[in-house]
Amino acid sequence: MIRITDILDKIYEYNPDGDPDIIDRAYIYSARVHEGQMRLSGEPYLSHPLEVANILAEMRLDVESIAAALLHDVIEDTPATREDIEEMFGPGVAHIVSGVTKLSGLSFSTKIAHQAESLRKMILAMADDIRVVLIKLADRIHNMRTLKYHRKPEKQAAIAQETLDIYAPIAARLGIFWIKYELEEIAFYYTLRDDYDRIDALVNKAKSEKDDYIKEVSEQLHEKMQEMGLDGVIKGRYKQPYSIYQKMKSQNLEFNEVYDITAFRIILDTIPQCYAAMGAIHSMWKPIYYKIKDYIGNPKPNMYQSIHTTVVGPKGDRVEIQIRTRDMDEIAESGIAAHWSYKEGTNVDESTGELFAWISKLVENQENYNDPDEFLENVRIDLYPDEIYVFTPQGEIRTLPKKATPVDFAYMIHTEVGAQCTGAKVNGKLVQLTHELHTGDTIEIITTKGHTPSPDWLNFVKTVKARAKIRAWINARERERSYSLGREMCEKTFKKKNQNFNALVKSGQIEKVADIFGFKSVDDLIAHVGFGKLTPLQVLNKALPELENKETKTKNLLQKLVRKRKPKASTGIIVKGLDDILVKFSKCCNPLPGDPIIGYITQGQGVTIHRKGCLNIMKMSQERHIEVQWSDSFTESYPASIKVKTDDRFGLLADIAAVISKHKSNILNARTETQDTGLGLFYFTCLVESSAQLRKIMSDIRKVKKVTDVKRIIRLE
Ligand code: MN
Repeated sequence: MIRITDILDKIYEYNPDGDPDIIDRAYIYSARVHEGQMRLSGEPYLSHPLEVANILAEMRLDVESIAAALLHDVIEDTPATREDIEEMFGPGVAHIVSGVTKLSGLSFSTKIAHQAESLRKMILAMADDIRVVLIKLADRIHNMRTLKYHRKPEKQAAIAQETLDIYAPIAARLGIFWIKYELEEIAFYYTLRDDYDRIDALVNKAKSEKDDYIKEVSEQLHEKMQEMGLDGVIKGRYKQPYSIYQKMKSQNLEFNEVYDITAFRIILDTIPQCYAAMGAIHSMWKPIYYKIKDYIGNPKPNMYQSIHTTVVGPKGDRVEIQIRTRDMDEIAESGIAAHWSYKEGTNVDESTGELFAWISKLVENQENYNDPDEFLENVRIDLYPDEIYVFTPQGEIRTLPKKATPVDFAYMIHTEVGAQCTGAKVNGKLVQLTHELHTGDTIEIITTKGHTPSPDWLNFVKTVKARAKIRAWINARERERSYSLGREMCEKTFKKKNQNFNALVKSGQIEKVADIFGFKSVDDLIAHVGFGKLTPLQVLNKALPELENKETKTKNLLQKLVRKRKPKASTGIIVKGLDDILVKFSKCCNPLPGDPIIGYITQGQGVTIHRKGCLNIMKMSQERHIEVQWSDSFTESYPASIKVKTDDRFGLLADIAAVISKHKSNILNARTETQDTGLGLFYFTCLVESSAQLRKIMSDIRKVKKVTDVKRIIRLE
């Protein structure tokens, strides 16, 4: 078992200024709370946090990360709380430990492999501090190294599969290749034991002849480098069984067709030396031109840099060679971790800032990447701060925009579920429908049969789908209402003339009328009658022209003439997106443009406009209420009345009238009353274009000397 002093020694080597005290304290605390717990290996549990801390020390991370590594399981596995950790070790360590705990709370093995990409994004989105991910990876390495102690093979296979699906790709994405390879090799053994054994045996068998070959190629490379005055390290190695397996599988090859089970690496001091070495090698062995890749000139999104070339080497075999500098080699092994600042006093945000600066630089240089998919694959996780990842109760992941609500989630599952949604549970707790969802939440929607969407939902839903579906439902409902209203209106009007509207619908006669008016269907025609766009009498006259008497004929003709001579000005009102509907302004509340308004569908008289809150309309049938709004293009003036109270009546009328005309409003009517008390009372009706204009007039009248009160009234009292 590794000892804490070994870890402290290691840290001292790369970070002599680091504070060993916090690590000591974390160690002692961890030992105390984990006391008595055992690993499956039979070792004391403490060996696990120590190993994880050691891996991070090897990655040369800062002391906060290492302290957090020692404490990474205490919230989950012991009575310790986040508050305890924060009190003892500060907010930085507490933040990291609680981040790791949250990730551990997600159980992936039961989830479905096809959503691996979403799970990876989810982990990276949840780990707002990259160190959380690094600890999680170190934790996974140690758990994989000790996987042999698990007694159940199914459990081993499940953990290994999760490692292959989730953690190895995350390591690759962060550019930490040594972790990716180690995780993959162990996971390969537990997931595909037969293939592992077979390839392992084949590699071992090939080694007898390949060992000499590696030696020969290495020697020739060495000679060539010396001849060119290039001082570097040459490494020959066997590829890992898992990468050989992947190559065989993806290219459908037999083992003996995989020529590159060996690989060579040359590590030099400078970039010019790398290019010189490539030139030298190409002069010695013929390169396969399409295999030359210059990742020094064009680094990979995860910062990887290297020259790759494949040449036809001695005996005509292909030889794969990577050439890079020492720095590049370090980054290739450790990726983001190599850039991680472990210096004391460097705060997390600064370092994270650097990381993001690096990513945004990549975005700027996007055109430098040959493969846009590869680019996106590597970068998008960090660039989509607007998404959240949540679970269905079955463990399926759904991606939603940030601040999405249970209603958005419900509509994402199914339109029906959205429409009938009456409540939701997030992580088992009942929440409001307006509740803001977060990454990692598990959401269960409660539906009630027959429940319908509420227009209020439009105020908080975030997804396009939910919005569109709610709107569509409201429109359909209003159309339905207009339809039943229109039908009722037609039935009545026809009945007055002793006709049966429904019989005419059945006989198909109304279809002709719909056609004449340019509607696609009879239903459409009836709905428009309900809207007030068409009168039932118009329908009747077209359906049964013989009933139309002379009188109405003349009247209609006259009407037409009037309309022709003087095209009807815009009413200033839009009813359901239509601005040419017959409207009337109610006398009871006298609405002005700018006032909140509501329409009332009258029988055959179009729509009457009331102010919202008008007592009269509130008493009238809800069924006939219809949403209306002011159009932007109104030009008319509307009468409005106000009541002005003053301390004195003399001379004030002229002052007030002057204020009104200053605002370019015409006074239609003015009246004054004297009260016994000697106070003055004035009533004005003037023409205004909007409620805003009226408010301005009223506010200026209030400024007139001796005016005590100004009030809008419905009509002259
Ligand atoms: Mn652990």
